[in-house]
Amino acid sequence: MSLVRAATPSEVIAVKKYNNGPLSREQVGQFVDGAAKDSWSDAQLGAMLMAIWLNGMNAQETFDLAELMTESGIILDLSGVEGIKVDKHSCGGVGDYTSLVIAALVSSYGLIVPMMSGRGLGHTGGTLDTLEAIPGYSVDLTIEQINQQLNSIGLGIFGPTGKVAPADKKLYGMRDVTHTVDSIPLIAASIMSKKLAEGLAAGQDGLVLNVTCGSGAFMPDFENAKKLAETMATIARNAGLNVSYVISSMDQPLGNYIGNALAVKQVLRVLNGKTEGFENYVDMVIELSAHMLVHGGKYKASELAAAKVDLRKRLGTDKVSTKFMEMVIAQGGDERLMDDPDGILPSAKHFDELVVPQSGFIHKMEPTPIGMAVVELRGGRKQDGDKLDYGTGVVLTEKRIGDEVEAGETWATIHANDEAHIGPARERLESALVVGDEQVDAPQLILES
Ligand code: URA
Repeated sequence: MSLVRAATPSEVIAVKKYNNGPLSREQVGQFVDGAAKDSWSDAQLGAMLMAIWLNGMNAQETFDLAELMTESGIILDLSGVEGIKVDKHSCGGVGDYTSLVIAALVSSYGLIVPMMSGRGLGHTGGTLDTLEAIPGYSVDLTIEQINQQLNSIGLGIFGPTGKVAPADKKLYGMRDVTHTVDSIPLIAASIMSKKLAEGLAAGQDGLVLNVTCGSGAFMPDFENAKKLAETMATIARNAGLNVSYVISSMDQPLGNYIGNALAVKQVLRVLNGKTEGFENYVDMVIELSAHMLVHGGKYKASELAAAKVDLRKRLGTDKVSTKFMEMVIAQGGDERLMDDPDGILPSAKHFDELVVPQSGFIHKMEPTPIGMAVVELRGGRKQDGDKLDYGTGVVLTEKRIGDEVEAGETWATIHANDEAHIGPARERLESALVVGDEQVDAPQLILES
């Protein structure tokens, strides 16, 4: 009698991946099923994740993984919505709340913008958290409500309806503890499994991907950001979508108002045409919106520059701010928001300024500690499920890397509701800013488009 038992299917597949053999769609499906239905043990799933982390996946395996993870959960049915749908995905960072302006701006051209967004975790903010700072705004819509809202006003930003990509949820949690987060096929399949659940139609609808790189991003360098962008774009193309990508730098925060209600305040200013001091943020809004107009057939791919000129003219007009308020009101938000943001939005009770320690030029303004300062103030989560204090955060001046500063000038203001949180937030912020004597160039924001 042999003491060696027969290998389980999961062992066969993990061993195949360890030996660098490509997995068939059926084998990828068994792995996805094992995660979604808990039919593989954590040890078996972990072994497979590590095999993928070590050996990667080819384009077909990566697509199969994304698509099968999508199919492990609900897929929004937007077939009842008339018109071309366009969306964006950003890999995120600090001060990266462009979606709120982009949705209103792009839908003002008559395109449909369904954005199924996520929450913040760690140093990066989340679009749903930002919108929930608006009293009354609900991100929990039913599929019927989403269809109805898109047909009546053309845009919506909402959370996942029901169980979206449960296999990804299980695997994402496991990647954290198995040290397999930084794998391009795993990241690409994870992100795209949720985007493909959004109900964009093959052969018609479009998606722009914004992949960030730098110290505040998932991908530290341009080469890996480009590989990730290409991998995600291939998945979207294989799913039949019109897709393009923009690679941008996240070596410093994008917006100036970091926090939830604070971010909404910056959004309202930009919607009202007060863009001075928010140049990087506005450039990103315009870049991504231009790609969406191309996907929506409003401009040809060769006319990206003309689309940007038109978008800049339109931003700040009533057409766009009205679209934003239509969405806010449709989702239950306070209709007085645009006229009285300071009266409507939650705010902080205590303020504390950080000043530049020496005269010179800004060499670094690290996004991660700035995002973590907001977490210390309870504007972001340390753990899934933490309750947020929507009025807190950090307001930065417009000074960024390469700008000249003088000792004693304010560069950041803490907005706190609990005085005890100011010290830890200060400590994080102090580590974010580096000033030196030599002049340095401002980093380029858009690295490839
Ligand atoms: N965001 C995701 O949804 N998944 C990843 O793997 C990384 C970022």
